Amino acid sequence: MTMQGLNITKNSENLMGEIYRCCDNPQITYLAPVNINIDERTIGSVDVWRCAVCKKKFCEEKQLGIDSITDIVGMPRIEDDEKWGVIVSKLQKGKDKWKLVKLKQNGVIKYETADEKMLDLKIENYIIVDDYHTSFLVEDHLNKAVEI
Ligand SMILES: [Zn+2]
Repeated sequence: MTMQGLNITKNSENLMGEIYRCCDNPQITYLAPVNINIDERTIGSVDVWRCAVCKKKFCEEKQLGIDSITDIVGMPRIEDDEKWGVIVSKLQKGKDKWKLVKLKQNGVIKYETADEKMLDLKIENYIIVDDYHTSFLVEDHLNKAVEI
C-alpha cells in the first residue's frame, strides 16, 4: 500500500465516522489471547486479531471482570512501523500494573500512568528502557500467560 493510499483511506474514514480499514479487503479473524498474570492468577488479557489479507494484527485490552465499554467500529488503528506491546509498571499494583500500547522500534513513547501523570519512556528495539517500567511484545507471547 502506498502512502497516498493510506491518506485516501484516512479521509474517507473521517467522512464515514472512524471506520478503519487496514487494507482494501479486510478479513479479520481472531488469532489468540495473551493472558496477563500476577502471582499465577490471570488479571486480564490481550485479545489478538489478524487480517488474513494484509497480516496486520489488532489488539484489545481486557481487564478481568470489566466488560468492554469501548464501542469501536472496526479495529484499533496501528501504523506499519509500530508493534503491539504491553508496558509493565514496577510502581503500580493489580490492574494498574499493565497497559496495552503501540511501540515504535526506537524513540520515546508518551505514557499516562494510573495517576494520570505523563511520562516519556525510552524505546530501544521495541522494548521500554526505564528503571520503573518494562515491556514485552504481544506477538512473542500468543496463547501464553505472561507473569508481570
Ligand atoms: Zn488487512
